[in-house]
Amino acid sequence: MKIEKVEGVVFSYPTRRAVDEDGHSHPGPEVLARMAMITIHADTGDKGYAFAPPEVVRQHVLDAFVRPVLIGQHPLQREKLWKSLEHRQRGSAGQLTDRALAVVEQALWDLAGRALNTPVYQLIGGYRDKVPAYASTMCGDEIPGGLSTPEDYAAFAERLVARGYKGIKIHTWMPPVRFAPNPEMDIKACAAVREAVGPNIALMIDGYHNYSRIDALRIGRELEKLNFAWFEEMMNEQSMESYAWLAQQLDIPILGPESLSGKHYSRAAWIANGACDILRAGVPGVGGITPALKVAHLAEAYGMDCEVHGNGAANLAVCAAIKNCKWYERGLLHPFLEYDDVPAYLHSLSDPMDDDGYVHLSQKPGLGEDINFEYIQAHTVATY
Ligand code: MG
Repeated sequence: MKIEKVEGVVFSYPTRRAVDEDGHSHPGPEVLARMAMITIHADTGDKGYAFAPPEVVRQHVLDAFVRPVLIGQHPLQREKLWKSLEHRQRGSAGQLTDRALAVVEQALWDLAGRALNTPVYQLIGGYRDKVPAYASTMCGDEIPGGLSTPEDYAAFAERLVARGYKGIKIHTWMPPVRFAPNPEMDIKACAAVREAVGPNIALMIDGYHNYSRIDALRIGRELEKLNFAWFEEMMNEQSMESYAWLAQQLDIPILGPESLSGKHYSRAAWIANGACDILRAGVPGVGGITPALKVAHLAEAYGMDCEVHGNGAANLAVCAAIKNCKWYERGLLHPFLEYDDVPAYLHSLSDPMDDDGYVHLSQKPGLGEDINFEYIQAHTVATY
């Protein structure tokens, strides 16, 4: 079995998710957004697919790094191929990102699953076939009746509980919202949500990512009174020492690192330095499914949970493959958007949730994405 070809295709699809100047999602008018899909072809006719923003897998990345490493190689030798790509990162002047590694590796896993007629989550562990989801809200905004006040968050939380969610994570207000960041507002929103949902719903917060140690400590002490399940990325994660300082003083579990680079290597340092109580890894952020599993297994060896960052089929597969992860992150959610609407380029949702808040794994071979190839072909804007 050999890899014959790697294809990139960019297509358009309608979305009502708008992105602000800091990169946070909010509801907006319907626009056409772009998505890329890479396809890895084997000489047996087997194929693997993965989606990413077009910038992550632009033509230069495929031409200069991905094709030279993959073409002619055995597609099931993922560790060898991943190591080879990782090796080329240093000389790539920052062009070959961890996210690009992750897309390629996801497509290789998808190919393996399709070739072996088995879902990827079973190939990588198969611990369970459904995972409890927490509702992950969008960041706060200034939209009347949206997520603009603590009362808005409370009203939305009641709707989420009625939908079946047993856990809710609130992203609070961040710039460019005029009054953000604001620790007092964050605390008020957390208190309003706890009051609205009662004691039996797990609550988490992911607030402004650049609070000072003192502000973070103050918010954390209030969250302890509200019995929050974890406290996430409240300070710049480049400063591991600040997290170690905070974790030593708070009882509420500190979760991280999420956006920090360094794959599984940096996560090992956070454990060794006592900088978190729950480890964090998302498939795109750490360079793929396999490095995310390395992080989870590392956490397990230290008696820690590893919560998986972000939604999508690959993150869901990792959640289902391991024991030491309590939740799947479903979102981002907003009162004015319907998450259960299927994206135009899929035939069905990758993370369907039942009324008890469980997301069920697809039993299709591969990553289980129900791709609408006809739609993608009809809306292609570039191929390379
Ligand atoms: Mg986060």
